[in-house]
Amino acid sequence: MDPVLAADLAAFPDLLDATRRYATDVLAGLDERQVSPAVPAQTTALPSTGTGFAAALAEFDRRWADGFAASAGPRYLGFVTGGATPAAVAGDWLTSAFDQNPSSRSGAEAATELERETVRWLAELFGVDGHTGAFVSGATTSNLVGLAIAREWLGEQRGVSVASAGVGALGEVTVLSGAPHSSVYKALSMLGLGRDRLRLVPTLPGREAVDPAALEEALAGAGGPAIVVGNAGTVNTVDFDDLRALVELRKRYPFWLHVDAAFGGFAAVSDEHAHLVEGLAEADSVCVDLHKWLNVPYDSAVQFTRRRDLQVQVFQNAAAYLGLPTDNPDFVHLTPQNSRRLRALAAWFALAAYGREGHRDIVARCVAEARRFGALLSATPGVTLLAPVRLNVVCFTLDDPERISEVLDAVTASGEAFLTPTVYKGQTALRAAFSNWRTTPEDTNRVHAALAKALRG
Ligand SMILES: *Cc1c(COP(=O)(O)O)cnc(C)c1O
Repeated sequence: MDPVLAADLAAFPDLLDATRRYATDVLAGLDERQVSPAVPAQTTALPSTGTGFAAALAEFDRRWADGFAASAGPRYLGFVTGGATPAAVAGDWLTSAFDQNPSSRSGAEAATELERETVRWLAELFGVDGHTGAFVSGATTSNLVGLAIAREWLGEQRGVSVASAGVGALGEVTVLSGAPHSSVYKALSMLGLGRDRLRLVPTLPGREAVDPAALEEALAGAGGPAIVVGNAGTVNTVDFDDLRALVELRKRYPFWLHVDAAFGGFAAVSDEHAHLVEGLAEADSVCVDLHKWLNVPYDSAVQFTRRRDLQVQVFQNAAAYLGLPTDNPDFVHLTPQNSRRLRALAAWFALAAYGREGHRDIVARCVAEARRFGALLSATPGVTLLAPVRLNVVCFTLDDPERISEVLDAVTASGEAFLTPTVYKGQTALRAAFSNWRTTPEDTNRVHAALAKALRG
């Protein structure tokens, strides 16, 4: 064994202790860390002789750590960014310690069963009990898997297996959606269906929710089976398609209903908001991100479907040593990955530790903070909300939109908060997304104060 590696092996417990202390300091300082610091560009060549872990940690601390954003902290409101709860962090650490490969039950029986249990818990949490699913790396991959199954279903309608014959055998494809996430276009590109196949359907006036009448017209015009991407929580204004109306339409026009519920799916956890996702259980496939509002570390999401048979057709990886898919197929046959980490463990710990009630509380507090921030902005001169605060995102603009990037930069430079820009219905805008379990009213006040200061210039 390399002598440096051998020394690390001998000192393994101490090194983990040092890491624990280091991580404890990082987490204790999260609140005060610059929310999005500038990164000094200084890279080095690959070391030929290693330094051992202790020196590597010192080097990391010296060269990199200060540049890392407090994206796990309470005032990072860019994109839709969750943090990681204590149980989720610990579960993630143990994922590495056990280093399981739940791709096939062979040699990893308990790990695959734990993933199945976690997927069932999540299906219950989101009210999609009739679905089966698997862990994937993020909502983009979840959308990819859902749309891959949709593609296979289209083939089934036309008497071909795309998985065998290729996408060329499919012919014309119509994909319809009101306000899809950018990752849907990426998935269509990867699947050989093509970004241009997505036809945007008009949304309701002043909304990002699809207009069901316009969707019906588009479906009638499609002249045969299609794919519809329903949106349960758009990134700009967290708008929701009327899923029940979509399910009704499906009775008259054949289509695969994939629902992107990346973070909007968490509405199901809240009594006050569950109505927003009524009908989700009837979807053919569903995407929910976990590294957002479940507050588990990156990278974690779940995909659900009611047609696991088609999923296996697409993703099966038959090999003599892995065995053929059974009626309870191994995960190797369900997603783009073969070998994979036991992503489920962090989510399992989060759900075991805090349960439905704990996660309901996280959702409720985030929604409360989004509303407070919305109210503060409404009373701020020069600021206009572009949509009501429906859930956890506040979308707003400035009377002088020319100032948006300057104001954003000033907020970032203050180290107090991080917000991201967007374009909403052709208008340059700003977003603040509340999805972190730590965010308190005081944090919201600090974000507002940083913004108000930036506005004063
Ligand atoms: C975040 C998001 C995605 C993509 O998620 P990743 O985790 O970044 O892959 C897809 N759809 C919606 C609605 C999202 O909010």
